Amino acid sequence: MKPIEKDVVIIGAGAAGLTAGIEAGRRGRSVLILEHNDQVGRKVRVSGGGRCNFTNLGIRPEHYISRNPHFCKSALARYSPADFISRLERHGIRYHEKESGQLFCNGSSEQIVRMLVSECGDAGAEIRLKCRVAGVEKRGRFIVRTDTGAFASSSLLIATGGLSYPALGASDLGFRMARQFGLAVTPLKPALVPLSFRRPDTAMLSPLSGVSIHAELSCGPVKFQGPVLFTHHGLSGPAALQISSYWNQGDEIAINLLPGRDAYALFTEHHGSRMELQNFLSRFFPKRFSSLWCSRFVPSKPLSLYSHRDLKAISQKLHNWTIRPADTEGYGKAEVTRGGIDTAELSSKTMEAKKVAGLFFAGEVVDVTGQLGGYNLHWAWASGYTAGQYV
Ligand SMILES: Cc1cc2nc3c(=O)[nH]c(=O)nc-3n(C[C@H](O)[C@H](O)[C@H](O)COP(=O)(O)OP(=O)(O)OC[C@H]3O[C@@H](n4cnc5c(N)ncnc54)[C@H](O)[C@@H]3O)c2cc1C
Repeated sequence: MKPIEKDVVIIGAGAAGLTAGIEAGRRGRSVLILEHNDQVGRKVRVSGGGRCNFTNLGIRPEHYISRNPHFCKSALARYSPADFISRLERHGIRYHEKESGQLFCNGSSEQIVRMLVSECGDAGAEIRLKCRVAGVEKRGRFIVRTDTGAFASSSLLIATGGLSYPALGASDLGFRMARQFGLAVTPLKPALVPLSFRRPDTAMLSPLSGVSIHAELSCGPVKFQGPVLFTHHGLSGPAALQISSYWNQGDEIAINLLPGRDAYALFTEHHGSRMELQNFLSRFFPKRFSSLWCSRFVPSKPLSLYSHRDLKAISQKLHNWTIRPADTEGYGKAEVTRGGIDTAELSSKTMEAKKVAGLFFAGEVVDVTGQLGGYNLHWAWASGYTAGQYV
């Protein structure tokens, strides 16, 4: 059968694919968006705990990890948080700032998905669901073969996202297609993901499961401060998820349990006290934590009975408790994938592959990974918007 002709075929109806489809449709291009799920934007729906942390007021290139840290600048400069906010406001979608510039919907993230679908409709971009891509070839135009027919287009945009949360439809198609066309893909790994303990640490720390503390975690020169949650197997919570994106197998994580305070100064101030160390630490941590921490590292006794040398050593441990994770909890629990299509292969101005005219990539499939806090969706909107101007 003869392929159906379109100007633009987009694979992936997620944050980036839908945004690009809207922009290309507005330019008068005939657009077809192919999606293998039975709904669009499944990750957008679950994002931010169902309220979608859709952007961050402090979007800056420093919040992104990439082999080329400059690559994201052009798309971020073209499409700002204010641009996305004005889009929401046009649709009457209300939102609020939670903390550190993170913007969430007041209602459900479904509102954002409905907004994107409605804008696709207005722009004439067609969406085809439950469509499996069998293969792509380039014979002048791109031919995309699917289980619902073949499509031919002069531009092909790959917006298939990362590998995380396979249950929501993640696939490796984008990476396979990049390789098929001779484009390099940087090493892929789960990011914004809980870290798992080695066996001895699991035995020691699993009784803390469910306990949350405020701490600063560092991995090499990178530091994040915030809530850290102990799980049955390891560490989760915002600070642990953030540091996981910078962690490589074998690296140590240093935990500062009293960031912004001087433990030794606190101890010397209370050195005359009969208060037990464990009770003193419970001023700063949940009881379960201070009790386990003391039983493991420093037998608890009244503060007055420790020498200054002891207190120095305890302070040191509180400020620099090191753990070497065994691994991450993998793509099943990762918010994003670190790595992707090597940015050296793409034009940062257009998102088009330098070696393959008409082939574009946008969103998480590209080697640009945001920190926690709305940065990943913003990259998807911004790179999708940019690609949409050129496909
Ligand atoms: C649980 C969770 C919560 C998150 N919360 C936030 C948050 O609050 N804020 C934030 O900024 N980021 C968040 N993220 C990350 C964010 O959702 C992604 O980075 C973003 O959706 C990436 O956009 P994308 O368009 O590149 O990919 P996606 O939105 O993943 O879209 C890719 C689309 O391609 C489709 N697809 C894949 N393979 C194929 C194929 N072979 N054929 C056809 N279609 C295919 C997928 O089904 C999907 O619809 C969260 C992620 C998860 C998993």
